[in-house]
Amino acid sequence: METEGPEAATAVDPVCHMTVKLAEDTPTSPHNGQAYYFCCVPCQKAFDQDPARYLP
Ligand SMILES: [Zn+2]
Repeated sequence: METEGPEAATAVDPVCHMTVKLAEDTPTSPHNGQAYYFCCVPCQKAFDQDPARYLP
């Protein structure tokens, strides 16, 4: 059994600002040498089309 401690890796989806738990099947895109993670593939595609729109 796996327990999820406070150290479970998460990231914030830059498109919808949801907190995403990182898993093997989490959609991810590299941008400017950093990895961004998404709650779902549509968010990833939106980011890929126009990354600057979603970054601070
Ligand atoms: Zn999302």
